[in-house]
Amino acid sequence: MQSSKISKLEEKALKLLLKYEDKGLLQSELWHKLGVTSRDGSRIAIKLEKRGLIKRVKEFANDRWTRRLVPLVKPFDITVLKGSPCPSCQYNNNCGPDQTYSPTNCVLIENWLMSESLTQEKSAVPINVEEKKP
Ligand code: SF4
Repeated sequence: MQSSKISKLEEKALKLLLKYEDKGLLQSELWHKLGVTSRDGSRIAIKLEKRGLIKRVKEFANDRWTRRLVPLVKPFDITVLKGSPCPSCQYNNNCGPDQTYSPTNCVLIENWLMSESLTQEKSAVPINVEEKKP
């Protein structure tokens, strides 16, 4: 049975690919950066593709056909969580799916999201509004 967990090497490969965003990397460049053989590298790429995390695009480069590995996911920006009540919450250790507390019905999260939403509305610049000339 295939493990659903991503291996350390697969994670490292994906992190490297994420640095190159939509441009991706030729697979041989990734193998070199990871320090793995082309055989092991190909296995990693195929696994990542099967998980829907990358796509392998056929490309003619350096006088031969190869694959460009392009990430299909974006890095997670943790700054969006700035100000979240969870890190300092007294219920944090008992919060999650099938636990006593859950983010899906948490008033603290709801209040935080509402206040974030209001803050963004206030700082939003209206578009298609002409500036008044003095
Ligand atoms: S979701 Fe609510 S209860 Fe859970 S840790 Fe965050 S603030 Fe606490």
